[in-house]
Amino acid sequence: MKSATAFIGVGSNLGDRLAFCRQAVALLRADASIELKAVSPLYETAPVDFIEQGRFYNAVLKIGTVLLPEILLEHCQEIEQRLGKNILRPKGPRTLDLDLLFYEKNIFQTEHLTLPHPEVENRAFVLLPLSTLAPDLLHPSLFLSIQALCARLSESQQKGVQKYLETGWEKDEGSMGCFK
Ligand code: AMP
Repeated sequence: MKSATAFIGVGSNLGDRLAFCRQAVALLRADASIELKAVSPLYETAPVDFIEQGRFYNAVLKIGTVLLPEILLEHCQEIEQRLGKNILRPKGPRTLDLDLLFYEKNIFQTEHLTLPHPEVENRAFVLLPLSTLAPDLLHPSLFLSIQALCARLSESQQKGVQKYLETGWEKDEGSMGCFK
């Protein structure tokens, strides 16, 4: 089967945020049906929507996969559960959040999955990391590039997203023991 390109958003604001993000990347990489193609820098970001919570670490991953979108989401949700995703309230703190941002040019909505992710164009913590991997990627329903969507962000949205670690942050052999 031909491999499809997809982008996944990673976020954590509970516990050892860096370890959770690294473990998420390692578990995706260990999945035989997923090829990790690129990892954005890691950003520290201000919470949005529910702002009475800790700051997040966020990054975006580019993958190739033979999994269909719904199955890819299930794989992501298994990783969230494995790393103890424990949501106390909607949009509240979480050890790990994996969002399927784009899957090729797919546009659809089912009970469990909306593609592209419906908040992509509003979230600086997604757009800024994504722009480091795919600035010219076109949002398939808005017909705007990621770069163009970034340019629409307000100054305060952009200020809330600060680069914390350069590309390569995910390579940490030491954190592997946590989920072996
Ligand atoms: P959250 O905990 O805020 O990440 O929301 C997770 C819920 O959103 C799950 O019930 C998913 O089935 C649903 N969902 C719908 N579309 C997506 C998507 N593109 N990526 C991740 N979760 C999604």
